[in-house]
This record gives sequence, C-alpha cells and structure tokens, in this order.
Amino acid sequence: MLSLVIPIYNEKILINELATRVVKAIELFTTNYEIIFVDDGSTDGSLEALLSFHKENNHIKVLRLSKNFGHQSAFTAGLEYTKGDYIAMMDGDLQDPPELLADMYQKIHAENFDIISGKRTGRKGKSGLSIYTWLFHQIYSSLAGLKNIENTGNFSMMTRNALNAMLSMKEKNRYLPGLRSFIGYTHGYVEYIRDDRYRGKSKMSFYKLMILAADAIFAFSRFPIRFCIVLGIIGTIVFMVAGLYVLIAKATGIALFGWSSTMLSIYFLGSIQLIFMGIVGEYVYRIYKESQNRPLYFVKDFYSN
Ligand code: UDP
Ligand code: MG
Repeated sequence: MLSLVIPIYNEKILINELATRVVKAIELFTTNYEIIFVDDGSTDGSLEALLSFHKENNHIKVLRLSKNFGHQSAFTAGLEYTKGDYIAMMDGDLQDPPELLADMYQKIHAENFDIISGKRTGRKGKSGLSIYTWLFHQIYSSLAGLKNIENTGNFSMMTRNALNAMLSMKEKNRYLPGLRSFIGYTHGYVEYIRDDRYRGKSKMSFYKLMILAADAIFAFSRFPIRFCIVLGIIGTIVFMVAGLYVLIAKATGIALFGWSSTMLSIYFLGSIQLIFMGIVGEYVYRIYKESQNRPLYFVKDFYSN
C-alpha cells in the first residue's frame, strides 16, 4: 500500500485541482493507496473542501490539527498516521508534479531504494525566493555535512523502514529533508523542474523560511559556534598585539591617545560580542525547546473512513 501525505494551510482555491490530479496520477499505477491531507489549522474552508473529497473517495483521509503548527509539524503528523508500506510526502500547492509519484514508485521497486527524493533541476515561472533557496542549499550542504540534500525538498517517497527511522528522531526543531538525509539507507532521485505554485500565495512567509533555514543549520551543524570560537581566538591575538603596541607607545611617551581609537574598539568588540551571543542564544533557545518536550501537534479529528 502507498500512503501520500499532503499538508494544507488555507489552500481552498486549489484543492479541487489538487485532489483530482493526485488521485488520477496515483490510480494510474496502484489502487491500493491512501492520501492523508493534513489540515494545518486552515481558516478559509479548506477543511470542508477536503471533507467533500473524503466523502466521495474513501482512500482520501483528512487529519485535522487543532491549530496551525507549521509545515514541518503538519508533515510529521500526517506521516505518523500513515499505514502504507511506501510513504510519499508532497506539498499541496502542485509545485511538485504528482505525476512523478509513478516514477518514484517504479524506481523504489525496480532498484530497491529505501528513499527516493525529487531533485529539482530548475524552476518554472517567477520564484523570487529561488536565489535564497539556492544560497541556503549551498551553505547547508557544506555546513551540515549531509549528503543527498542539494536541491531536494520535502517531495519524496520512502519505505516503512526508512520512515520509522526518520520518525524515531523526536527533535522539535525539525527539518525533514535534513532528517531524511541523516538516517542513511539507500537514496535515489527522480529529477524534475519545479513548477510555480498552481494558485494562491505562498504560505511560507520570508520570515517562516528564515526560521526554517536557521532550524536546518543549527540542528545539524556546529559550525556557527566553532566559527565564534575561532574568531574569538583570532581577535584575542590581534588585540594582544595591539595592546602591546599601546603599552610600548605609552612607555616611550610618543603617543597621544585619542578617544576615537578607544571608541572604535568598544563599538567593534561590542558588536562582535552581540553577534556571538546571538549565535549562542540560537543553541540555548533550541535546547530550551527540546527540554520542554511539548508535542509537535495536537489532532482535533481524523476522518479516516
Ligand atoms: N503549509 C502548512 N502549514 C503552514 C505553511 C504551509 O501546512 O504553516 C503547507 C501549504 O499549504 C503547502 C505546503 O505546506 O501545501 C508548502 O507551503 P508553500 O507552498 O506555501 O511554501 P513554499 O513552497 O512557498 O516554500
Ligand atoms: Mg510552494
């Protein structure tokens, strides 16, 4: 059986097209499937639209969360409710073509992979964020030391075995493509050109995307904190030399010390310290979140049959 998880947050205007296209794409290669739409606290009537599909087709299930928990938590919730032997995840805005599920399904069987990720080889249409996305992937793959991550997102299919491994990681700051790469197993790809979203506006604000990027980087990399230490050491050496010079200059009486140099060094050191405290704070905040150990989501209803 194949399970497909799709998070939905205020996507009413595209649910008809989405559900129709996804069902059509899946039924081309299997009739043994379930689609779990996770309603991540929509307020625009998405839930009702989803429920009307659920009434018509009992392969379609709707997991309704108690409020908006965010994209990564919504995916996690849906994944935890799946029953299939193969599990796929896909965004709900049709940026990832559902027709590719057939290729993933075929490949995971024929070549015995545990995970197949969709690899984006390009993007159609205007996508103002693609430069940030590109930059993020460059920084991320080198900092986090994860393989198989470049130009992949949530769109993927995996075996139950790989999913269990992924779900066994209970951390709260979740970046699922990172977790999916971290677990290992055999990893294949299908390539595609990413579409523009079918209708509506992106539900990931620039701010939400920055938070996601920070989660991804801080959860998998010690680099930022090491960078602070190294820069701190270099700074100390530089200022020791400078301090020595100041002392010598003073002792030999050649110097008239002004305020500017003093002020400049205060500004400089002050700002560097603020940045580094911020970086340390990022880790502290994440430790705090993990130690609270709150559930990632709450379920209001599960419409499963
Ligand atoms: N989404 C969600 N909860 C949120 C934000 C987004 O479930 O808080 C869903 C959204 O409905 C869509 C998917 O996650 O199906 C990806 O969101 P979007 O396309 O807006 O993000 P982008 O592609 O712009 O990064
Ligand atoms: Mg999108």
